[in-house]
Amino acid sequence: MTTATSSDVDGSGSTRTVQRICPLCEACCGLSLTVSGSGTQARVVAIRGDEQDVFSHGYVCPKAIALKDLEDDPDRLRRPLVKREGRFVETSWDEAYAEIARRLPPLLAAHGKDALAFTLGNPNVHRLGLGLYVQRLLRAAGTRNVFSASTLDQMPRQVASGWMYGHALTVPVPDIDHCDFLLMLGANPMASNGSMWTVPDFRGRAKAMRARGGRLVVVDPRRTETAAIADEHHFIRPGADVFLLLGLVNAVFDEGLVRPGRLEAFLATEDTGVEALQRAVAPYVPERMAARCGVPAEVQRALARQLAAAPRGAVYSRVGSSTQRFGTLNSVLIDALNILTGHLDAEGGAMFPRAAAFAANTQGKPGVGRGLVTGRTRSRVSGAPEVLGEYPTSCLAEEIETPGAGQVRALISVASNPVLSAPNGARIARALSRLDFMVSIDIYLNETTQHADVILPGLSSFEEPHYDVSFPQLSCRNHARYSPPVFAPPPGAQAEWQALLRIAAMLRSEPGADEAGFDLAAFDERLLADDLRRLAAGVPEPLQAAMLDALGPVPGPERLLDLALRAGPYGDRFGRQPGGLSLAALKDAPHGVDLGALAPRLPDILRTPSGRIELWPAPVAAELAAVDAALADAPPALVVVGRRDVRSNNSWMHNLPTLAKGPERCTALLNPDDAARHGVRTGDRVRLQGAAGRTIELPVLLSDEMMPGVVSVPHGWGHDQAGARLGVAAQRPGANLNELLDDRLRDPLSGTSVLNGIPVTLSRCAG
Ligand code: SF4
Repeated sequence: MTTATSSDVDGSGSTRTVQRICPLCEACCGLSLTVSGSGTQARVVAIRGDEQDVFSHGYVCPKAIALKDLEDDPDRLRRPLVKREGRFVETSWDEAYAEIARRLPPLLAAHGKDALAFTLGNPNVHRLGLGLYVQRLLRAAGTRNVFSASTLDQMPRQVASGWMYGHALTVPVPDIDHCDFLLMLGANPMASNGSMWTVPDFRGRAKAMRARGGRLVVVDPRRTETAAIADEHHFIRPGADVFLLLGLVNAVFDEGLVRPGRLEAFLATEDTGVEALQRAVAPYVPERMAARCGVPAEVQRALARQLAAAPRGAVYSRVGSSTQRFGTLNSVLIDALNILTGHLDAEGGAMFPRAAAFAANTQGKPGVGRGLVTGRTRSRVSGAPEVLGEYPTSCLAEEIETPGAGQVRALISVASNPVLSAPNGARIARALSRLDFMVSIDIYLNETTQHADVILPGLSSFEEPHYDVSFPQLSCRNHARYSPPVFAPPPGAQAEWQALLRIAAMLRSEPGADEAGFDLAAFDERLLADDLRRLAAGVPEPLQAAMLDALGPVPGPERLLDLALRAGPYGDRFGRQPGGLSLAALKDAPHGVDLGALAPRLPDILRTPSGRIELWPAPVAAELAAVDAALADAPPALVVVGRRDVRSNNSWMHNLPTLAKGPERCTALLNPDDAARHGVRTGDRVRLQGAAGRTIELPVLLSDEMMPGVVSVPHGWGHDQAGARLGVAAQRPGANLNELLDDRLRDPLSGTSVLNGIPVTLSRCAG
């Protein structure tokens, strides 16, 4: 798809075209921007897909056009805000930092470093400066209380990868461009363009797969946009993926379909190997699982056979399967299916990308590593285990509310909005209002940041350089792309990395960090030198000094990127690999550098202590007792699931007019039979009541795309809270799905909230 705004030329008639990677979602499409004017008059007047982009080939979705709205949004913060007597006032950066220096370090000195918590939102993986420098701030803070969007989304996938392959970002993704059979659970890439799978233009790639005789099968409680283009769609009871997956793995063993091929040499044996898995799944025959998951036994067996028979096939699951009680077990079983049928690390199967920078699985000694250890600490109130340095976001409120040593008294929210994005957001809002001090690094005064004492706004997307730190590690084809800033930032503006680094300096008690003239560049240089020493351990010091010199004097994330590229698997090794990648090389390739199709990477990719794939990790095996208990549960009469819309992305894009226009999107989708039973017709407003009696009201749409007994509500809405400054979003605020959810329910292995399959009751609103 290629799209443009209406006008390409300003009054002067002079325009230029620049390339840019879209920072809005995981697809990372290449854009071509038409820019009119220069200096402070420069404006983006058109946004199209970059036809020459080596990865996305011109594809964009409607959200890309809204980047212009984001640039121009009058509600976007451009100067810091400080709360004075309960009201936000604009202030200078120096005054904002002075307020933080006056209040935060003394509070931590009195109560300890764990008195500070962090919430990290989704943009942390979409902005170069945020992604790299938030790590610096977290290290400086040293708190155990870190909460992020990961435990509302993909953490089960990461834990499964950590245990099976040794690193949380060693995630196999479907090699869709060579695949003949793709089975998909709980994923809707027609709306998302992939999640934990960077696949711009999923529609085009799926179409090409089907044109060469391939088949797409979707299992989902809604006939989603992806299911609508699939060869087969099967309904599944929300929350019951584990029963289907156990049935499928059982069928693969039962029907003699196990053919791991070359993978056999890389698989662990004994307690975590194939035989252990076979023993574990033996009781879960498809005929027994069918009643609980809603997928007939003959369909389960047919899917197992199709997968095994496919020369090049893959199973893929995402957020719908992840945000369930057995999210981690589900992720392990998905990979087990790919492994048992020989489709892991094979062309057209589930393959491991080889990223140009920042990938742990391209660093260190190939084939062996420390693996993933969780539970190194426990959260103070619920005792939830730490996972990848975080506690579950659903534990945030109780850590603020509960008195005692280690109580959270201060918070730094970094591009996060847990009041709308986490279960029981109302409780989180009440907890935030009780904090002694809160800083937000955010471009909006929203439902969460309204509780802050200081808000520090970063630059606009067009004012910053861009490189995706995470997504090349999840991409359906290897590539490297960099975007320079389109505009210079306005005088006096600061980037997010500068704000993060300045607070880090305060928390490390760097001399002068609390004063206006603090030398941030010198501090950045010292940290870079430390990084380089770690990375180049064993390299003689003069050579290290030469490398530091080669990275140049300009502080900020681009030097870190250059270092990672040059030391990476395709890098120029600081001149030792002529023609290799560096930031300069990427700057010379505005449409990106294609690094080839995905290729087999086993065993080098493994970082487990055994150097083998742990097919059936012990903590996952222990989950089967809970599965047995859940098997006996009667399915509720009506449950709620979330929904993704191509014109929306979590909670933060509802203020952009281009995306906000059109039909109401925050609706309850309901099967007509359920509607008849409840006396409801399309257009009625309905009241949904969920956990702890909390309710939401919203219009209903009837559709047989919904499985009977399931109602679907999109997430990220509820912009009717006083105190937020989101003029467009407030006009059609929608209702907050998360109010229906139970903040006590989570996958215990990953800490991820249960967001799907929650029992609700439905009634028609009077009038
Ligand atoms: S699919 Fe994602 S990356 Fe591509 S244009 Fe849309 S929002 Fe941007």
